[in-house]
Amino acid sequence: MAVTGRGPYDPQNVFAKILRGEIPCKAIFENEWVLAFYDIAPKAPVHVLIIPKNPYVSFMDFSQTAPAEEIAGVMRAAGQIALDLGLEENGYRLITNAGLHSGQEVPHFHIHLLGGKALPAFPA
Ligand code: IMP
Repeated sequence: MAVTGRGPYDPQNVFAKILRGEIPCKAIFENEWVLAFYDIAPKAPVHVLIIPKNPYVSFMDFSQTAPAEEIAGVMRAAGQIALDLGLEENGYRLITNAGLHSGQEVPHFHIHLLGGKALPAFPA
């Protein structure tokens, strides 16, 4: 079910549980700013979720309240992961859903990294 992407951070959301190690994930990258892992229901041959380690509800929350150093760290990590996965040559897509109209389901800011095939025209 879509969430508003606003309001207080819910520490019981699924990504908070993954960050605490309470539920497993297939992690592919971790540094001081982010954890990245494969989406449980992939929408493309490569479908990775990149999440900040700190508790932001949505892109609005992240972009407006995170320190500049952290924003840079998260975006730098996203690019690094695309490089590590060999997606640079053929391209890839980054998406973040924010709030009800986007269909955001998990109220912890995350970036979808999609690739590995020619993706449908945007928006899909
Ligand atoms: P959203 O709609 O942008 O919030 O995307 C949430 C994504 O999280 C969806 O693509 C789900 O398939 C994915 N997801 C939900 N639970 C898990 C999990 O436990 N592990 C990995 N991905 C998950």
